[in-house]
Amino acid sequence: MANPKTIFEKVIDGDISSEKIYEDDLAIVIKDINPQAPTHVLIIPKTNEIPKLSDATKDHQTLLGHLLLVAGKISRQLGVDEAFRLIINNGAAAGQTVFHLHLHILANKSFDERSIGNDLGHD
Ligand code: AMP
Repeated sequence: MANPKTIFEKVIDGDISSEKIYEDDLAIVIKDINPQAPTHVLIIPKTNEIPKLSDATKDHQTLLGHLLLVAGKISRQLGVDEAFRLIINNGAAAGQTVFHLHLHILANKSFDERSIGNDLGHD
């Protein structure tokens, strides 16, 4: 039997609604439902092949590069390209709750370089 869909597959398939701000062939960008900063969006590949970053292989190199370029493009679109934090939680112990690779963009808050570990631990 097929694995149950992740929340993000349901979003991508339109089974559940989301605030989508960008879409292309490979990825979507949505507003996070529980924002941790005034600007908090998620860059999500359409494929469900990569539950977490450490599962990615050489076959995903182009996709991974694409996701970073989308991050830059979206940061410009949102007007936060001078200051944002890009976060990937990898594994439950690191705060990952949805096992479908995604990149968080957090912006419009003050960042302290010593607070790098504090942004998305979901504490
Ligand atoms: P992570 O903890 O890194 O796996 O991040 C998962 C993120 O997905 C969290 O910040 C959640 O708030 C967010 N999230 C979960 N469900 C939805 C949804 N239906 N729409 C938008 N964001 C969601």
